Amino acid sequence: RAKRAAGGSFVFYDPVTDAARGERLAMITELRSAIDSGQLELHYQPVVDMVTGRAISMEALVRWRHPTRGLMPPGGFIPLAEQTGLIGALTLWVVRRAGEQARLWWQGGIRMPVAVNISVDSLIDPAVAHEVVRLLVAAAGELTVEVTESALMNDRGRQVLADLAAANVSCAIDDFGTGYSALAYLRSLPVSAIKIDRTFITDLAHGAGVDLAIIRSVVDLATALGMEVIAEGVETAEIERKLLDAGVRRAQGFHYARPMPPSDLGPWLTASRP
Ligand code: C2E
Ligand code: MG
Ligand code: MG
Ligand code: MG
Repeated sequence: RAKRAAGGSFVFYDPVTDAARGERLAMITELRSAIDSGQLELHYQPVVDMVTGRAISMEALVRWRHPTRGLMPPGGFIPLAEQTGLIGALTLWVVRRAGEQARLWWQGGIRMPVAVNISVDSLIDPAVAHEVVRLLVAAAGELTVEVTESALMNDRGRQVLADLAAANVSCAIDDFGTGYSALAYLRSLPVSAIKIDRTFITDLAHGAGVDLAIIRSVVDLATALGMEVIAEGVETAEIERKLLDAGVRRAQGFHYARPMPPSDLGPWLTASRP
């Protein structure tokens, strides 16, 4: 098919692309109303101390309970939210909801910080960041943040992280090793933890010496900087053992628990108590 465009030239339309574009537009509209109409949910995945076997914190991970598509993982809509400016509203919803949940747990005696993932887009948008910082500071240690290396590469991002640190809000660098490893920035930033990306952890199972060397060097780096190390994506006891040998103590992964709705967390915590 062809259509006459301005200036008299012809533009060709690919029906497949048209369909995909229509679907994308529909999803943007749906996502906008999903944030307000209660279709988003937070699931929580514990971070465990591999030595004691006990949970030490939780990570809040957003899901979209879509009326027809079912429970959608964040990979299916976070990028769309980032591209369309909906991420600000989503981030604020996540921080508020996680704050309410953390408060409930702390009041019930589960005194574990809850980590929220903050996109760099939200961190550098003053209108969003101001309210996010206010909520995090008000949570007084019940909430912490996770940002990717891209946040360290941005002046505004570093400033917000410095503000958070000054207010004693802990911050972890997520997916460490997958972005530009901002070693120079790490040195000057008050970051409290490094989360080693799952891609480095998964390959440990295959006896790859290179990955073990990378993990040892991250442990050395973190120790020198006074930061904690958390391994992401630990799926087997064998990998846990290799990580312990390499000096890593904290981990997250399906070997311990998958992300779960808050109603399942209580029973999991009780059952996992050694
Ligand atoms: P992330 O922050 O690095 O979260 C870890 C992801 O790895 C989660 O995927 C989790 O379910 C998965 N995972 C945990 N343990 C294992 C394991 O042992 N094996 C494997 N194969 N996977 C494991 P999920 O929930 O799909 O989230 C994906 C990403 O979406 C997150 O990566 C984060 O970057 C983003 N995200 C999630 N929630 C939010 C949010 O509220 N706001 C923003 N901005 N991003 C979010
Ligand atoms: Mg994370
Ligand atoms: Mg991560
Ligand atoms: Mg990751």
